[in-house]
Amino acid sequence: MGTGDDMTGDIVSDGNNSGTDRAARRDEAVRAAVEQGLLGPGSPIVGLLDVTGIRESAAELRAAFDAVTAPGTPVLHAFAVKATPLVPVLRLLREEGIGAEVASPGELALARVAGLPPALTVLDSPAKTPAELREALALGIAVNADNPQELDRIDALMRSAASRSPLGIRVNPQVGGGSIEALSTATATSKFGVALRDEGAREWVVRAYADRPWLTRLHAHTGSQGIPLVLMAQGIRETYALAEEINRRIGRPQIDTIDIGGGLPVNFASDVTTPTYAEYARVLRETVPGLFDGRYGLVTEFGRSLLAKHGTVVARVEYAKSAGGRPVAVTHAGVQVATRTVYVPEAWPLRITAYDGKGRPKTGPEVVQDVAGPACFAGDLLAEGRALPLLEQGDYAAALDTGAYYFAHHYAYNSLARPGVYGFAPDGTGGVTFATVREPQTVAEIVAESGGAHADALTTLRAPERP
Ligand SMILES: *Cc1c(COP(=O)(O)O)cnc(C)c1O
Repeated sequence: MGTGDDMTGDIVSDGNNSGTDRAARRDEAVRAAVEQGLLGPGSPIVGLLDVTGIRESAAELRAAFDAVTAPGTPVLHAFAVKATPLVPVLRLLREEGIGAEVASPGELALARVAGLPPALTVLDSPAKTPAELREALALGIAVNADNPQELDRIDALMRSAASRSPLGIRVNPQVGGGSIEALSTATATSKFGVALRDEGAREWVVRAYADRPWLTRLHAHTGSQGIPLVLMAQGIRETYALAEEINRRIGRPQIDTIDIGGGLPVNFASDVTTPTYAEYARVLRETVPGLFDGRYGLVTEFGRSLLAKHGTVVARVEYAKSAGGRPVAVTHAGVQVATRTVYVPEAWPLRITAYDGKGRPKTGPEVVQDVAGPACFAGDLLAEGRALPLLEQGDYAAALDTGAYYFAHHYAYNSLARPGVYGFAPDGTGGVTFATVREPQTVAEIVAESGGAHADALTTLRAPERP
């Protein structure tokens, strides 16, 4: 994975890097889901969440930063809610000591219903309305201003009422992009934050802090999946250097907290967790040692790396056919649950595993085949030309590592229903127990959300008669 750090002499556990336990838990869960009727002809697609794995990742995150920070350093790990916007997930993470990073009124509402207190919540978004800002400041939620116009709005609110909200500015260190353009937030022209290397921008930021003693945080998020660790660390080094410069020029440590964002990439190629939080924390400590000496509190905003590997979408093979000599398994998982993979397959390949009709891992010779989804366009493929044991009618195909930005991000193409999402854990007697995280969407709900109550709206709308 190329960070070149030595793995010795550190007390940090890298957790279950081999991933074999995780794969075994997943296989057990798929079999139990079929046995218990969560999956079957009448409910041909589900999302499964591995509660044990989520707890492990949260513990690994906490341990990784505990190991590199000076004792007593305040560290808030705020889960990027957009990665898995499900209330029970936010509550589980809360129990594991993880807060929430929200970026819309909807995400804030989810975090509040999950029981996240304002002190564990951070609001970042590039398009906050005056009403959103007012609510956040009234609640005391941390806010990072994206741009000068937003700071003007915060100024007005601060003049009208005192707020406990820790406030900061988001900067874009412009260190460059990664392998996925759409997820690279630190390019020269990224839409996020104050572009630090633009003419006059750095001076503007320093002055903004000098003029506002209540600006005590500095925020950067250098990107998501596809950004090398070294580039992420470079973005944080630039942000740290700016905080140092601001505090030096103001003459006191006004910035007391640095928000380093999220973005740790996920390995979608195997069950091994790489890079780990421990590796990233070590790279950061080597690149930016001053960040960890206790003078700054830290906020992190990891999303994908906390949840991706703990989610599996499992879909029944409705039909198995052959076209042009290639076997095609037509399943119930396609663009509606794996939107990025279907539209940009080269950037977002997913591992697929094959299970038989009883939910047992399929064995047998591998056959190159397509795993298709249910949507009515030719490109709706979960995997094209993939070598797998031959999928047959009534089998199940599982798309792995889909716990973040996949089945929780339904895309309503073809009015396909949102699948149910279930968490699983050992039942204590060798079996698996499930809990409903999100009910499957019903057809009645689809109709209601599609204007069912307004069926006459357009036919009764007429221009006034002209004389
Ligand atoms: C999306 C986002 C994150 C989380 O990114 P991951 O790649 O999922 O870790 C964190 N902070 C901000 C501001 C974001 O937009």
